[in-house]
Amino acid sequence: MYNKTADEIMQLNPEIAIIPVGSLEQHGPHLPVMTDWAIASELGRRVAEKMGAFLVPALPISTCREHMGKKGTVWMEPTTFYQMMTDMILSLKLQGFKKIGILQCHGGIFIMTPLVRDLNARYNPELMVAVFDNMVCGPILQQEGILESWEIHAGEGETSEILAIAPETVHMDKAVDYIPDVPREYLSYGSIFRASPTGVWGEPTKATAEKGEKMLSRSAEIAIEELNKAFAYMESKEKMNYSNF
Ligand SMILES: [Zn+2]
Repeated sequence: MYNKTADEIMQLNPEIAIIPVGSLEQHGPHLPVMTDWAIASELGRRVAEKMGAFLVPALPISTCREHMGKKGTVWMEPTTFYQMMTDMILSLKLQGFKKIGILQCHGGIFIMTPLVRDLNARYNPELMVAVFDNMVCGPILQQEGILESWEIHAGEGETSEILAIAPETVHMDKAVDYIPDVPREYLSYGSIFRASPTGVWGEPTKATAEKGEKMLSRSAEIAIEELNKAFAYMESKEKMNYSNF
């Protein structure tokens, strides 16, 4: 909807705004650094269209310090991200948006939880902010037989999606599977390159464009379902003592 004029948007008068959030970061030897942003853009487009929502262009940069070690990874401080998102969301609120759906398409944005919690605690019921973490799709897509393997980064899922979105940017001949022997939490103790020499955490050799297309359409459905559930939960809240939260 960002390709429409302000008057056209006034006429459509959407009450929901969708903000997809990506990241600019290394994605192994086979995927472009734009990977998370490309997925956020595509998922955002599909979700906003089906929800009749105003789509904010996907944010290309967030917090990804854990991917430092090569060139091409760009991040901001978590507190900057918190402030930037708060400013953006309050600007939407001032223009009559009541519901904000954030599509989180990069795993390492841990400040997202306090951000969403604080906005809802301060502004419910005039404003409802829901976040959908795209990582929750992994186990569902596996259960449904769309994906074979689980991943943290640049594995079967992300590679399949980029094969569907921008195949010319993927170097499948350089894709190598790698599962580190430390848990994900160890990304707080050192960059991903200490855990995985290639920066991959998953099995990209299992990726295909066909899986990617199925993933994108199913992920959009799951995202819409989950956002609507969260909005319905917030809408049904009654004032409790002195609080709306
Ligand atoms: Zn990614």
